[in-house]
Amino acid sequence: MIASEVRALDFNGYLNLIARFTDEELIPREQEMVTRGEVPPDVVGRMAELGLFGITLPREHGGLGWNVEQQVRLTLEFTRASCVYRSRFSTTIGLASQIILDHGTTEQRDRYLAAMAAGECVTAFALTEPDAGSDAAAVGTRAIRDGEHYVLDGEKRYITNAAWADLLMVFARTDPDSPGGAGLSAFLVDPSAPGVDIRVPPRMNGHETGPVAEITLAEVRVPVANLIGGKPGNGLRLALRGINHARTHVAATAVGQATRLLNDAAVHASRRHQFGRPLADIGTVEAMLGTSYAELQAGRALVLDTARAFDTGPIPRHQIAAAKYFCTEMAGRIADRAVQVLGGEGIVGDHAIPRMWRDVRALRIYEGASQVHEHNLGRYVAESVS
Ligand SMILES: Cc1cc2nc3c(=O)[nH]c(=O)nc-3n(C[C@H](O)[C@H](O)[C@H](O)COP(=O)(O)OP(=O)(O)OC[C@H]3O[C@@H](n4cnc5c(N)ncnc54)[C@H](O)[C@@H]3O)c2cc1C
Repeated sequence: MIASEVRALDFNGYLNLIARFTDEELIPREQEMVTRGEVPPDVVGRMAELGLFGITLPREHGGLGWNVEQQVRLTLEFTRASCVYRSRFSTTIGLASQIILDHGTTEQRDRYLAAMAAGECVTAFALTEPDAGSDAAAVGTRAIRDGEHYVLDGEKRYITNAAWADLLMVFARTDPDSPGGAGLSAFLVDPSAPGVDIRVPPRMNGHETGPVAEITLAEVRVPVANLIGGKPGNGLRLALRGINHARTHVAATAVGQATRLLNDAAVHASRRHQFGRPLADIGTVEAMLGTSYAELQAGRALVLDTARAFDTGPIPRHQIAAAKYFCTEMAGRIADRAVQVLGGEGIVGDHAIPRMWRDVRALRIYEGASQVHEHNLGRYVAESVS
């Protein structure tokens, strides 16, 4: 439940609150999170109380009603802490809630959105399958109508938050004769329904304290009322609505992570002495810090500009793809330089930088791998001049 004093804040007051929460609670508790192997439950409770599950939903649906630029500015703050904290609410706020908000029936909006905003309905977004990764239109999970139910069969993998979700948003093929995205539909599935099996893989490379999960759906009966929007088809269009929002947030996450990585690298370079002087006084180290700063400023400007375009016009999908691509690649370069500045400490021990280096690696793969964005953006540029 979002605390009433939080609801009363204006945006600047709220931004300050989240910046303080990041510095005083999220960052200091990262090591505890690593030791426990999960985000401490009381931190999840604090995130809900402070409204982080509700930043993307309008006030009439229980959220805080911030626009996309404000969401991005908030993300730049809370992702200076481990991005695993953000993952805990990301699938609810950026993917699932936006699809229900724009495409759900009135009953679906009334039933789920306020609970999502309060952090009481953690929702996982289940699109990816073993044979449908970058090619999301290849989803093979089937949904066959049987009276007042659909019967779902299939396999999903790499699904963030599925292991503790209150609700699954599952993409399945309702029209077997339509092989592409148009034959897909989206369903709201109870994770405790008979036939749903959710498993966490034994190892993760990054995001260890917030693992993804595999889902098997075996003859899962889902009421027709849980078909998003009330009619089958256009599932990929629905998915893209959530994905465009999530990509904007992932770009901001990359900038937040890079901000922290550069800061921590600079702290180390100033304190550690070799050859009788701080590392920060060595020209090549200065160059790593300076180049990183310039790239970080470019990423920050791009994601804020993208967010403003999102707020003022039709969803700027090419600019979103460019921001997601540039910012996540930029964070990868800054993370790599930060490890280099640390020397052996970047490989041995439990400094935050190598943990974040592993975490940011995934940002270049999910919400569209970098090469998919390069390909699509290249085609867009070529077509816009021909
Ligand atoms: C930590 C994490 C969390 C995730 N969370 C979710 C989630 O919550 N829900 C969900 O549904 N999915 C989720 N995913 C899945 C993610 O969206 C997919 O991993 C991603 O779409 C890539 O699919 P794939 O892994 O099958 O790789 P593949 O599609 O096999 O691609 C492998 C590589 O091939 C190249 N490639 C593929 N296609 C093209 C192309 N057209 N042009 C150029 N290069 C190409 C790219 O280099 C790509 O990295 C998550 C993944 C990770 C790692």
